[in-house]
Amino acid sequence: MHQMTLAEIARGLADKKFSSEELTKVLLARITQLDPQLNSFISLTEELALEQAKAADARRANGESGALLGAPIAHKDLFCTQGIRTSCGSKMLDNFKAPYDATVVAKLAAAGAVTLGKTNMDEFAMGSANESSWYGAVKNPWNLEHVPGGSSGGSAAAVAARLLPAATATDTGGSIRQPAAFTNLTGLKPTYGRVSRWGMIAYASSLDQGGPLARTAEDCAILLQGMAGFDQNDSTSIDEPVPDYSASLGQSLQGLRIGVPKEYFSAGLDPRIADLIQNSIKELQKLGAVIKEISLPNMQHAIPAYYVIAPAEASSNLSRFDGVRFGHRCENPENLIDLYKRSRGEGFGPEVQRRIMVGAYALSAGYYDAYYLKAQKIRRLVKNDFMAAFNEVDIILGPTTPNPAWKLGAKNSDPVAAYLEDVYTITANLAGLPGLSMPAGFVDGLPVGVQLLAPYFQEGRLLNVAHQYQLNTDWHTRTPTGF
Ligand code: GLN
Repeated sequence: MHQMTLAEIARGLADKKFSSEELTKVLLARITQLDPQLNSFISLTEELALEQAKAADARRANGESGALLGAPIAHKDLFCTQGIRTSCGSKMLDNFKAPYDATVVAKLAAAGAVTLGKTNMDEFAMGSANESSWYGAVKNPWNLEHVPGGSSGGSAAAVAARLLPAATATDTGGSIRQPAAFTNLTGLKPTYGRVSRWGMIAYASSLDQGGPLARTAEDCAILLQGMAGFDQNDSTSIDEPVPDYSASLGQSLQGLRIGVPKEYFSAGLDPRIADLIQNSIKELQKLGAVIKEISLPNMQHAIPAYYVIAPAEASSNLSRFDGVRFGHRCENPENLIDLYKRSRGEGFGPEVQRRIMVGAYALSAGYYDAYYLKAQKIRRLVKNDFMAAFNEVDIILGPTTPNPAWKLGAKNSDPVAAYLEDVYTITANLAGLPGLSMPAGFVDGLPVGVQLLAPYFQEGRLLNVAHQYQLNTDWHTRTPTGF
């Protein structure tokens, strides 16, 4: 049962082959049995899951239908869940039970999805390896000595290990697409503003975007359908109609113009990944796509700009965790300053503290123009590069990451080495564009992802291209040994 995709589960439930309650019990047992190897969950919500499953079965018995009605999922532990711990992977929020549901959580619950638990993540979504979590590192099911990627590493490892068919995740600089690539999943970061950020604990507000992680593009379409839409509680949510994503999956790729940026193949890209990307290009050409070389000349400035903007916004967002209103509070503070210093010093881990320091520095008087303002100007140049490219092509294709998943601990002493691994993903966040990663092969037994980027609100186009590719390849069907 655990091998079924969301689409297969939806058909099975509709055909009354099994109930949501039966499926939920099977998956909960599987998580209890296998997750100790992976550490992909921070909290299991067994009671809630069984309650929601029974309610979904009752709704189906009453004639209701829907692809998510009775479908088991999990939420990255930065989506607020009412009455349930929402830790953001941090000691700071270990004792925090959210007083309300995030919009994404509420929408998926209303559609009938069953929440099995909350997944592990890098602390406050800062990282690319899921090693900065206060709850410990997550292991990659393809090789337990390797990282699953981050920051949505718990959602990715759990779905890749078939503990459940799909999970929510968020992407500020690659945290949906990069763990998807590292664990052989399909992951979609929607256009900025497509999915509500209300109740999604902020890392860098102008970059953060929620989206689906699943095994197939077909499943991402189903989950995104339940997540997307205007929300008046989020001032950056965009009031655009949500298309039927599953209906966009049947289109031919004949004549589709795919841009391949020449900058993507420079030094730093593992040549074995470059070969797999070329194979995926050939596959898409067979399906009728036309390839065109393009240029994104400002790409080289994206990492420095991102690692100013994201920490700057983080330093501002995280100032609310002061030990006064909620979150960790130190013992016996001597005075208010001591309370702030020790609560924050004890509650935040080293990577979060590093980013708060960098961000506060970049925003301080005298440095603002030199760093933050300059980074914002680069951001505009990155966006302009994309706008020029999309005048010529329909989608942009390249690697999701320059290397496959590294060994646990390999980059712990050198944070900048980890930052450099974000080179292909962060430009989409700086520009606000949608991006998708899909399985494209293996290197040394570790999965490799190919990334597709599209113009604003063209999530349907990305999903369709990935779906057509998946109808003609079988990388996405491979299961890690032992799971
Ligand atoms: N690796 C990037 C960072 O550490 C992106 C993380 C994310 O997308 N949340 O900031």
